[in-house]
Amino acid sequence: MKRLIILGSTGSIGTQALDIVRANPDKYTVTALAAGSNAEILEKQAREFDVKTVALFNEKAAADLKVRLADTDVKVLSGESGVCELAASDGDIVLNAIVGIAGLRPTLAAIDNGTTIALANKETLVTGGEIVNRRLVEKGVKLLPVDSEHSAIFQSLQGAPEGSLKKILLTASGGPFFGKTREQLQNVTVKEALNHPNWSMGAKITIDSATLMNKGLEVIEAVHLFGVAASQIEVLVHRQSILHSAVELSDGAVIAQLGTPDMKLPIQYALTYPERDKCFESLDLLKVGTLTFEKPDTDTFRLLPLCVEAINRGGLYPTAINGANEESVKLFLEGKIKFLQIAELNEKAMNACCNKREFTIEDIFAADKAARRVVREAI
Ligand code: NDP
Repeated sequence: MKRLIILGSTGSIGTQALDIVRANPDKYTVTALAAGSNAEILEKQAREFDVKTVALFNEKAAADLKVRLADTDVKVLSGESGVCELAASDGDIVLNAIVGIAGLRPTLAAIDNGTTIALANKETLVTGGEIVNRRLVEKGVKLLPVDSEHSAIFQSLQGAPEGSLKKILLTASGGPFFGKTREQLQNVTVKEALNHPNWSMGAKITIDSATLMNKGLEVIEAVHLFGVAASQIEVLVHRQSILHSAVELSDGAVIAQLGTPDMKLPIQYALTYPERDKCFESLDLLKVGTLTFEKPDTDTFRLLPLCVEAINRGGLYPTAINGANEESVKLFLEGKIKFLQIAELNEKAMNACCNKREFTIEDIFAADKAARRVVREAI
């Protein structure tokens, strides 16, 4: 039995992870669950999976959860420190499916406790990649990617000799606005931006897919996960979302992982690695028929090249563009800014970043805060 700790259990990845647990009661037990503020769902999950500890980031919601679980022995923690305490509790794997930079400190807490991490929270590596990588080596901890593209790269590299990775082919669906001009994007609505053609995901990552910020974040994530330069990563628009990414090795062999667009496979692989488990849905290539690959339109979708610029500049630039993006996506979802303003505001905040070559976790959170401030003050 593997003991799982799930952070972000009420979200898209978190609930799919719990589906996997439900389907395999003989393989997994859930010891702890954490989320942001959804006391109602967390209460239900805590009762169903009979967990020892729960945590909510939001203090008021945690107080409500405590009342809801008063008839049980479940320990209820609150705030960022509560989520970190839970992440460092006893377990075999921490699945981090929190959205945003809020996932960074819990990842570090789990590493410090020596627990294997299954990482969906890409913002952990975008903002704290250098520090996380150092800490993983110091503590001898394994970090397994959950993001479908990075899982595909990781799977494609199994058996590849060290040093043989030449290039990463990172695929992108292109999102709901593929092929549109800037003019056509002027007045797109939140509903249209949330209408992803292939994947059903949380709101923030769905908007990031529409702007191609998600692919930019994934380039940064891949740099930290696989130790390559951004120039070794080629982004390809692949509308069918069947080939989840590929690697080119030193002899020119291209190895890819294909599958239906379903996050359960990469989530499960991170939980069972290096073993393989059951299949959720077989891929029928005859039904798919055609796989196409195109160049992304980086003039219209500026956030992809801006993220590449951020990682090439290094230091705190990736944190700045990520923090600005979290804020501008929130404003877009609230109907306070237009779609194209997301990129404009992110660029402005990135360029306003006070960079440092050597930096601490506190510097990262200060840069995040400053970038958010630039965005709020610009509207
Ligand atoms: P969701 O918005 O669906 O879920 C986010 C989860 O994080 C919720 O459980 C939410 O709790 C919790 N949360 C929010 N803020 C905090 C906080 N401060 N402390 C603790 N928990 C918090 O997001 P997704 O599941 O879509 O995405 C999660 C992560 O996985 C993101 O980094 C995303 O980029 C990545 N990812 C997602 C994929 C997908 O298919 N969804 C694919 C690949 C990567 P509450 O419900 O209470 O707000």
